[in-house]
Amino acid sequence: MKAEDIRRAGVVGAGTMGNGIAHVLALAGIATHLVDVDDAALEQGIATIRKNLERQVARQAVAEAEAEAALARVESSTSLEDLAGSQIVVEAAPERADIKARIFEELSGILDPGTLLASNTSSIAITGLASHVAHPERVIGMHFMNPVPVMRLVEVIRGLETSDGTTALVMELSRRLGKTPVEVSDYPGFVSNRVLMPMINEAIFCLMEGVATPEAIDTVMKLGMNHPMGPLALADLIGLDTCLHICEVLHAELGDDKYRPCPLLRKYVAAGRLGRKTGRGFYEYGDG
Ligand code: NAD
Repeated sequence: MKAEDIRRAGVVGAGTMGNGIAHVLALAGIATHLVDVDDAALEQGIATIRKNLERQVARQAVAEAEAEAALARVESSTSLEDLAGSQIVVEAAPERADIKARIFEELSGILDPGTLLASNTSSIAITGLASHVAHPERVIGMHFMNPVPVMRLVEVIRGLETSDGTTALVMELSRRLGKTPVEVSDYPGFVSNRVLMPMINEAIFCLMEGVATPEAIDTVMKLGMNHPMGPLALADLIGLDTCLHICEVLHAELGDDKYRPCPLLRKYVAAGRLGRKTGRGFYEYGDG
């Protein structure tokens, strides 16, 4: 199979990442079925795809007819069984190894043995997920960045058993979606979070130790290092619970104390200050 032959895809999880992944698949002409356990999440996911397509039309990045056709290509339901017949399924369920393992096990019984199985995980080992599936050579990491329709990178993660054919196909599919794929090996945090999270964590240590205010820390990194966002604003965007979780994975699996999560990060998460999604993190956010 070639990437251009992919006509039917499935996406598991209609949240922040899942609806973005369905958006780019549908826009590339692929009939896409979105599955979530929650009807409200599906409704919200489809509404987000519609809103983001409208934005692209307003920016003249996408023609109106193209956007309408893309939206018409997205179906949704709460049953994984509906993904039978997909040529690729991208899993974007919550970042919990037990949830993902169960989904992979179930999909293994539903999908054809040749169907590609990709996970959008930020930190869970692809090799471990593949162990729950018959034919683990078809399992791969397809790590899209948030927001998916905007960000160009796809980090393509090869598990221990991932075949050359699976990798080549997912690299090619990523290009078909207008993305730039980069191949990396399956080690904790891959490249993206292995490098990003220690920077965010160190920025939080600077704040905790009173080195500077959040605004000062972010301004140093924006103006001094030419980063489009400061690390604390970026942490608020990603979600402080997600940042903590990834730091914990790096710390546990690499076993080096340089990855230990900053106590202030733990304190914010314990307080429910999770960043933009709760309206408050290192910064305050009004409604919306
Ligand atoms: P999210 O919480 O926004 O969405 C997860 C969705 O999965 C929810 O709608 C939930 O109802 C659904 N879900 C829960 N259990 C399910 C199940 N058993 N079957 C099907 N659906 C189920 O999460 P998200 O931010 O979209 O993250 C999804 C994945 O993408 C995670 O692995 C995360 O690490 C990864 N990721 C997130 C980002 C980010 O910036 N948010 C970036 C890159 C990768």
